[in-house]
Amino acid sequence: MSDCIFCKIIAGEIPAKKLCEDDEMIAFHDINPVAPVHFLVIPKKHIKNLLELEADDTPLVGRLFNKARELLKEQGCEENGGRFVINAKKHGLQTVDHLHIHVMGGRPMGWPPG
Ligand code: AMP
Ligand code: ZN
Repeated sequence: MSDCIFCKIIAGEIPAKKLCEDDEMIAFHDINPVAPVHFLVIPKKHIKNLLELEADDTPLVGRLFNKARELLKEQGCEENGGRFVINAKKHGLQTVDHLHIHVMGGRPMGWPPG
């Protein structure tokens, strides 16, 4: 999608602090972190949000979460854990319409969300 900021990161048109990349996903630090560790794991395929997932995409989401947990461990958060969040659409306060998993750690998180 030409106007999608995350597709531009995937295309290398916008810089990002990448943690890793393979043929189907990329992980990079959030530009506005809300925790000492805060990165995003996204598919290279432009999927708007979790509600608009196609059936064929289900295994991909599993692989995104697998990468998310591996990276959270690599970031030193294995012992204390963290938070994995997918915001979807208006009530989820999704601001970038390209599926992404927020992965956060390094401090205790609050609950419930505001
Ligand atoms: P959401 O509200 O779930 O759609 O979250 C979008 C996230 O993308 C926010 O936490 C932003 O800080 C983050 N973000 C937006 N633009 C960039 C960017 N260019 N590089 C890294 N993170 C970004
Ligand atoms: Zn996109």
